[in-house]
This record gives sequence, C-alpha cells and structure tokens, in this order.
Amino acid sequence: MSELNPFKIAQTQLDEAAELLGLDKGTHELLRWPMREYRFLLPVKMDSGETKVFHAYRVQYNAARGPTKGGLRWHPDETIDTVRALAAWMTWKTAVVDIPLGGGKGGVTCNPKELSDTEKERLARAYIRAAAPHLSVHRDVPAPDVYTTPQIMAWMMDEYEAIAGESHPGMITGKPIPLGGSQGRGDATARGGVYVTREAMKVRNMDPSNTSYAIQGFGNAGQFAATLHTEILGSGKLVAVSDSGGGIYNKDGIDPDKIVHHKKETGRVAGFPGSEPISNEELLELNVDVLYPSALENAITETNAANIKAKIICELANGPTTPEADKILFEKGIFVLPDFLANAGGVTVSYFEQVQNTYNYYWTIEDVHAQLDLRMTNAFQAVNAMAEKKKVHMRSAAYLVSVSRVAEACKLRGWV
Ligand code: NAD
Repeated sequence: MSELNPFKIAQTQLDEAAELLGLDKGTHELLRWPMREYRFLLPVKMDSGETKVFHAYRVQYNAARGPTKGGLRWHPDETIDTVRALAAWMTWKTAVVDIPLGGGKGGVTCNPKELSDTEKERLARAYIRAAAPHLSVHRDVPAPDVYTTPQIMAWMMDEYEAIAGESHPGMITGKPIPLGGSQGRGDATARGGVYVTREAMKVRNMDPSNTSYAIQGFGNAGQFAATLHTEILGSGKLVAVSDSGGGIYNKDGIDPDKIVHHKKETGRVAGFPGSEPISNEELLELNVDVLYPSALENAITETNAANIKAKIICELANGPTTPEADKILFEKGIFVLPDFLANAGGVTVSYFEQVQNTYNYYWTIEDVHAQLDLRMTNAFQAVNAMAEKKKVHMRSAAYLVSVSRVAEACKLRGWV
C-alpha cells in the first residue's frame, strides 16, 4: 500500500472488512467517518512572557457502543488525519475487547521536548478549558498517549473539576494512583499481550513453559513484556532485545530483570554483560517461538517478511506490520496477534479505572489482573473463531469481529 495518510489507510482497512461482511452501504459510509470532531486554537503564555498559539483536536469517531474513549497525543507531526485514524482504531479496539465504549482520540501539535513543566501545565489546562463542554464520563474520556503522562492527566482533571465545581475523577484515565488511577495500569498493555500469546500457544499446541522469545523496542511495552512472559507462562528464554541504540543477543538466554535494570541504569540495552551485539534486522529474523514487535510502525514489511521465523508475532506496537507483509506471514503459517487485539490491555485497564472512579470503590491488583485476563482471553477466542470460520488471517478476523459489533450497535439504535 503506497498510501501513507493514516486515515486513508484506516478507511481502506474498513472497506476491506465491510466487503467481507457484506455491510450495507449506509452502515459502511457511517463507519468510514468520525461522527464528531472538534478543532481548538489554544493561546498559551510561555515562560518568556510571549504567547504561543497551539492547534489542538478531539475526534469522537463512533459512540454507538458507549462514550468515546482514547488518548491525547502531543506531537510535532500531529494532524487532524492522524487523530481521525487513531480514533477509528480505538473504535475497533474497544469493540474487539467488548468494553462498552466507543472510540475517540485527541491531539495537540507541539514539541513537548521544547516545553517546560509550567508551560506543559498551562497547555494541559488550556486544552481542557476548550474541550470541557464535550468531555465527561458519559461523553468522551481522554487518557495518556505519546508524550502525555499521568501528571498531565492530573492537571487536566483538576482544571475540569475547577470548571465543574465538583469531583469528576472518571472524566480522564491514566491518572496517578493517589488521584484515582487504577492498580495495574502500568504493565497492562504488555500483560494483555502475554495473555493472548498464551492463548495462541494453546491453539498451536506449543508448550508455554519452553519457549524462546525476542523483543524489538525496549520502552514501556517491551520491558514489561520481557519480565511478564516468564512470569505469566511459567518460564521461557529471552534471547534478544533491542532499542533505538541497537540490539543484544545471547542464545543461552538473557535474565529479564537484569536487562531491565541495565536499561534503567545506562539508558540502553547495548553493552549488557555476556551478550553479543545484533542488528534490529537480525533480531526480527531470529528463529524464536515468540517475537514481540514493541517499537514503531512498519518493522515487518514485504522486504523482510519472507525471512521471519517466529511462530507467533505479538504486536505490542501499533502498526508494526504492513498489509503486504501480513499476506506473506499468513502464507508462511505464522500466527500474528494483531495490534488492536494484542495491545488492547491498556485501554481495558483504563476502562476499569473509569468503572472504579464511577462507583468510588477501588479494586486490588489481583482483581485487575483477573478481569483483564478474562477480557483478553474472550477477545482472543472470538477473533480466533472468526479466523477459522472465514479462513482469514487474525487481523482481518479482528476487523470482522469489531466492525460487526459496532455495526450491530448502530442498527439497534436505529441509525441505519
Ligand atoms: P516507548 O517510547 O516507551 O518505547 C519505544 C521503544 O522503542 C524505545 O525503547 C525505543 O528506543 C525503541 N525504538 C525506537 N526505534 C526503534 C528501532 N528502530 N528499533 C528498535 N527499537 C526502537 O513507547 P511504548 O509506550 O513502549 O510504545 C511502544 C509501542 O507500543 C508504540 O507503537 C505504541 O503506540 C504501542 N502501544 C503502547 C501502549 C502503552 O500502554 N505503552 C499501549 C498501546 C500501544
């Protein structure tokens, strides 16, 4: 696919699902576009005293299954089309894990690395002053995304409550725990990914206690995957990890806790004692049982897909596999756990946070893990059953499950 506009890509993916589902024209057209989108101009006083004007967005893609939900990105390349695409993907993600929410997303075009903490706070509060009439636990609930943090969520909640004159912790998720954040949010994305990997191993008759794995990208998602793979599956051998500074390999295994510690101490995985260097390209082509792409988009393309040897690919990153590569992996019999299923653990625990805020009663970490496991396992089973029934790869199957759920909600409401 040569089209690089992410919203056009999202629409093309939907078109393919609509055709496979035989969706009627009206429903198809309704699901191709955001139902509501807002654009704000935010004047913010910089520390220097000058005023800088930021362009900001909020897209509420589809609310048929419930209030919209989705992160807020602060990024220099943010455009209305990236926000629309991410809002569409959130709609399919909440539907595939069957939580009663729609999909939304927001963004501010800015470079957070050039902003001081006080400037970030003023930008966060300005965003809420502009967006507040369109947000609430019953309308649309933001969360952290690229370059936004629990601290930014805390400022946003505080501004919203100052406007409302009362407590509204559920209007935003990903908050610090003392302000109503949920236990278990930190590792939820990787944890959900390992739960669906465990289920995929059952389908493929693999012994989970005897698996090798490699991780591309060693940030939030990748580091938790390293330790949770062995914790949840009982054992396993981590043979390679990488970050933007390069990769390391040890055929006899790398201690997950020690490499996480090394990364925290040195800021990189390179130089880990007892390992040898490996390039990112080589890491992706290792003969391992499970590969966790946990860095960026387009890691697996038509150029390297034929050389991939992993038995299972668990996409913790968003968009690591191109559509051309998908076809090659499917033909090779590689079991791909597609991004909006594999990394849905994050939004699922965000939903748990919203639930806990609403009834003002907080769960233990054990409650969170048990509920997350249930949701992820059910989602996996629904998608796998669809893949077997329609003889399609798991990404197509995930689209079929989620689009048909959203379409059904639109129909029941009488919209189509
Ligand atoms: P992060 O910024 O914490 O980590 C990204 C890691 O990728 C870093 O270690 C970076 O060095 C590494 N990296 C960058 N370029 C690389 C390259 N070419 N080769 C190897 N490594 C490279 O980000 P994160 O939160 O861990 O997110 C990673 C991916 O997971 C993103 O696609 C993100 O959208 C997705 N995701 C994350 C969450 C979450 O809860 N953190 C939820 C859903 C999806």
